[in-house]
Amino acid sequence: MRQLLFNLIISFLLLILTSGCQQEKTTDLLRISGQTMGTTWSVAMLPSSDGTDVAALKQRLQKRLDQINSLMSTYDPESELSRFNNHLSTDWFAISEETAQVIELSQAISGLTDGAFDISVGPLVELWGFGATERGETIPSEGQINKLLARVGYEKIQLRREPPAVNKQIPGLRIDLSAVAKGYAVDVLAEILELQDVNNYLLEIGGELQIAGHRGDGTPWQIAIERPVEDTREVAAIFPLTDTGLATSGNYRNFYMEDGQRYSHTIDPVSGKPIRHKLASVTVLDQSSARADALATALMVMGEEKGRELCEKNHIAAYFLIHEKEAMTVYASPALLKFVEEVEEVEE
Ligand code: ADP
Ligand code: MG
Repeated sequence: MRQLLFNLIISFLLLILTSGCQQEKTTDLLRISGQTMGTTWSVAMLPSSDGTDVAALKQRLQKRLDQINSLMSTYDPESELSRFNNHLSTDWFAISEETAQVIELSQAISGLTDGAFDISVGPLVELWGFGATERGETIPSEGQINKLLARVGYEKIQLRREPPAVNKQIPGLRIDLSAVAKGYAVDVLAEILELQDVNNYLLEIGGELQIAGHRGDGTPWQIAIERPVEDTREVAAIFPLTDTGLATSGNYRNFYMEDGQRYSHTIDPVSGKPIRHKLASVTVLDQSSARADALATALMVMGEEKGRELCEKNHIAAYFLIHEKEAMTVYASPALLKFVEEVEEVEE
């Protein structure tokens, strides 16, 4: 619920910004929205040249989202992924082409990030109280953590493409695609819009975006990056953007405090514990929202220094907001600066 509220507010903020900064002509924008994956989705778009049937489009997008959810949700016990997770065997388990694609991308990001991104951390996400089940009363013990760590490791997952199937080398291993599925769904919806001849849009699921064309008056979409502070909603920077995917991960909303210590929903697969460092949020731009989504989570795990190295070595367009004692500092990777001509940083 807290997550839903958070994402509702984010979507609202995005919409205010995309409408608030624009000129009159953009009142022609069509808007549709709905709910999926425990969060909200929305599209602001210019109609196609032969007119867009908004109600039919909305229905079509929602249906496609429901389909993806029935494959990849860990909240739905009947989903394909839940069935794989409950299948306590090391035999091959047949999966859909779509799930195989998302697992393949995830495994590639795990390799690239030396395991910072790991779709097998699900049991630890649950243990720390950020999964589908209720949080326990106490902070997990080292013993509990170590027991689950023995079941974690992306290299224990094998993927086969023809026909698509997956297996686990440890029967208790579970797959959690929460850090990449929203981004994937955004890419799928963007494809549907393009096929319907909608070429100017801002499409978003829980803060993961695809942006195309312009916002009605020929000028780029204005995307607000939130200042990572609790309990208030402020803008840290505005990116004028066109034709890209974008995803943000942060540890400043989905977290809880216990004995003065912050526990957030991003888990370091090496320690088995929520990350603890000064990096407050990471935004990644990539043609693929799925890749941007996975990379944003991975960079959050890696932290500022290792994250910077990764971006510079692999031309990743990323924007970090870092908590320093008194203020917030910013890191924009070289690839980001090529992508976004002018980042407007908003003064505190
Ligand atoms: P959000 O859901 O806020 O968009 P993310 O994309 O970063 O944020 O996804 C966070 C979710 O990813 C967590 O709730 C958890 O289910 C999962 N997760 C946590 N740590 C990792 C990790 N190291 N690698 C992959 N997935 C993770
Ligand atoms: Mg992510």
